[in-house]
Amino acid sequence: MSEALVIKNLEKTYAAGVRALKGVSLTVATGDFFALLGPNGAGKSTLINIICGLVNKSAGTVHISGLSIDDDYQKAKMHVGIVPQEFNFGIWEKVIDIVVNQAGYYGMPRKEAIPKAEALLRKLGLYEKRFEQSRTLSGGMKRRLMIARSLVHEPKLLILDEPTAGVDIEIRREMWDFLRELNQSGTTIILTTHYLEEAEQLCNQVAIINKGEVVEAGPVKKLLEKMDAETFVFDLEAPLAQETEALIGKFGVRKIDADTIEMIVQRGESVNDAIIALNRLDIRVRSMRNKTNRLEELFLQKIGENNLV
Ligand code: ADP
Repeated sequence: MSEALVIKNLEKTYAAGVRALKGVSLTVATGDFFALLGPNGAGKSTLINIICGLVNKSAGTVHISGLSIDDDYQKAKMHVGIVPQEFNFGIWEKVIDIVVNQAGYYGMPRKEAIPKAEALLRKLGLYEKRFEQSRTLSGGMKRRLMIARSLVHEPKLLILDEPTAGVDIEIRREMWDFLRELNQSGTTIILTTHYLEEAEQLCNQVAIINKGEVVEAGPVKKLLEKMDAETFVFDLEAPLAQETEALIGKFGVRKIDADTIEMIVQRGESVNDAIIALNRLDIRVRSMRNKTNRLEELFLQKIGENNLV
């Protein structure tokens, strides 16, 4: 079976001279749930837009299900569904028409498209709204409509550009459930996100991209194992005494407020040892937690390293 997506040495320089991608290589295996992580301006949208034919690449190759976008674009596009960041359907169009017309774009007859569209709208909780104009939908519904539209031709690979940006927590959870189910039923999924939690919760593979380059890629679990250090926040039983405050800097401890400190614990070191060391300074810890989720720390470490280059 060919890989869902193989990208080799992909480069993009925009007319204005911006080098948005500087030789990106990525492989997404069939069945993966793949997160493309990166800060604003990293090149994520450029990468996605090249895959779906909206932006021309400057160099490199892209294969979708073994088909080159240079030689077999018409066939390759049949395998991909895309959910862009911005709503891009007609506001006066009816919900069902938006999905059915998209099927037409892929050459599917209306007769076949209507029941498919209805089934998808039902699954995404939009069936009751099918004869409404899209402008009447809430933000969350519009996003679900974009997903329904992207799936009508039953693509093997679904790409979502920040699918949960700006949606409330409940809708976000529902969307996660839907995407998990879709992935489990065999659709390969790539999503770009700022929300590291989203990647940690949903994805088995991740690539971190920064300034047009992949700075880290691999299974989410492996990446988490690679973490060099974790930052812990300790809530203290009593406010820091002034004389200890002067000492803690030497131990890699930072004061946040009178009774909260944070401490970086290196890989291989134990948090318990850190607490014992604090006890020796007469600092008693009441409770502790990770400062951020673990993937987030890794992300910050990687982006930090990359910025130094
Ligand atoms: P991301 O999706 O990770 O935020 P983008 O792919 O949108 O990143 O942008 C990568 C870089 O390319 C940025 O510096 C951005 O300003 C630039 N860029 C994006 N689109 C264009 C364009 N159409 N013309 C010129 N520069 C662009």
